[in-house]
Amino acid sequence: MDESQRRRPDTLAAQALGALDAVGDGLVPAIHLATTYRRAADNSYPGGRSYARDDNPTFQPPEALLAALEGGAAALTFASGMAAALAVFQALPPDSHVLAPKVVYYGIRNWLSGPAAALGLRVELVDMADPAALEQALRPGETALVWAETPANPTWVVTDLARTAELAHAAGARLAVDSTVATPILTRPIEHGADLVMHSATKYLNGHGDVVAGALVTAQDDDPWQRIRQVRRQQGAVLGPFEAWLLLRGMRTLPLRVRRQASAAAHVAHRLAQHPRILRVHYPGLPDDPGNAIAARQMQGGFGGMLSIALEGGAATAIQVAAEVKLWQRATSLGGVESLIEHRASIEGPSSPTPPNLLRLSVGLEDPGELVADLEQALATL
Ligand code: PLP
Repeated sequence: MDESQRRRPDTLAAQALGALDAVGDGLVPAIHLATTYRRAADNSYPGGRSYARDDNPTFQPPEALLAALEGGAAALTFASGMAAALAVFQALPPDSHVLAPKVVYYGIRNWLSGPAAALGLRVELVDMADPAALEQALRPGETALVWAETPANPTWVVTDLARTAELAHAAGARLAVDSTVATPILTRPIEHGADLVMHSATKYLNGHGDVVAGALVTAQDDDPWQRIRQVRRQQGAVLGPFEAWLLLRGMRTLPLRVRRQASAAAHVAHRLAQHPRILRVHYPGLPDDPGNAIAARQMQGGFGGMLSIALEGGAATAIQVAAEVKLWQRATSLGGVESLIEHRASIEGPSSPTPPNLLRLSVGLEDPGELVADLEQALATL
C-alpha cells in the first residue's frame, strides 16, 4: 500500500486517488471505448491490455479506489452485484461445500438453492449470527467458503465478522462478505479477517440509481483471486465503460452520502420504534436490536441507511402504508439519493421467508424530519 492509500476515506474518495485524464491532465479521468488494443511488431502488448472483455482502462480508477477504501490488495468490477457474487461461487472447485446465511439477499439465496447445485456446489444455509451454529455446520477440510452478509437483507441481521473469519479459517474455509449495505465507510470486512468483500455497486457505491454494477475486493492477490479474474474474463460480465465512469463519479461522494443516510436512518428508526401501529423496527442502531452490541463494535460512524418495519396486521396493511406515502418512492433497490419504501415479500416471491407485514426502507438524502412526517401520515390512515 503506498502512502496515498493510507489517507482517510473522504480524501481518497473526493480525489478518486488522484485519477487524471492521461492525455490532458484533466481532473476527471477519460472514458475508454476501445474494445481491442494494438500489438507491437514484436507481438507484445505495450499497453498491457489485449481485449476489453479482459480489462478496460476505465475500470482501473473505480477498482483502485474501492481496493483502497476497503484496505484490500485488488478489486474487480462486474456488470452487476449478482455477477460479482456468482463469480466467487463459480471460481470454487466443483463439489465444494459452501455455508451461507439463512437471512441473505434473496437473489443470492435463490441462486444458491437452485442453479448452484448444477455446478456441483453443496450449499447449506445456517444462522450466521450464531457462531455456535456456524461452528457445527463447518466441515474442517471440506467447507471451501463461508458467505456472510452484514447487515443482512431484509431484517438487517448482524454477523460478527471477526468471529466468523476465525471459525471459517480454523476449518480451512475462506470468508466472503456481502458488504453492500455497510459500505467501506462503516465496515471494512478485510480488517476483521475476511478474504473477499462483495458489493452490489448498484447501491451505495454508485448511489444515484443510474448504474447496475458489482465489485469484489480481495485481501490477497492469490490463486483464488486469479481464478475469479479468469471467471470474469471468460464469462464477460464486465461493466460498460460509461457505467464504470459513472461509478467512479458516484464513489467520490460516498463517505458524505453514507454518513448522512446512516444518521437519517437512525432518526427514522428511533421515531418509528415509538409508533403504536408498528410491532418492531429492525435496525442495528436501536439499543434493543439483537445485533446492536456487535454492530457497535464492527461498524464505525453509523449503523447504515437501511431499516425495516413490521406492522400490526398482514400484507394488506403493509401495502396500504406504502400506498399512502407521498415522499418515499415505492420501488425496490437501495442506497440511492431518494428514499425508497418496499413491501419486501412482494418482490421476493412466493418462496420468500420474509414476513408479509414487513416494509423495507432505504433512507435517502431528503430532510429526515419530512421523511418521518410522511410515514406518520401514512400510518395514520390505518
Ligand atoms: N447483495 C445485496 C445485499 C443486494 O441488495 C443486491 C441487490 O439488491 C445484490 C447483492 C445484487 O446486486 P445487483 O442487483 O447489482 O445484481
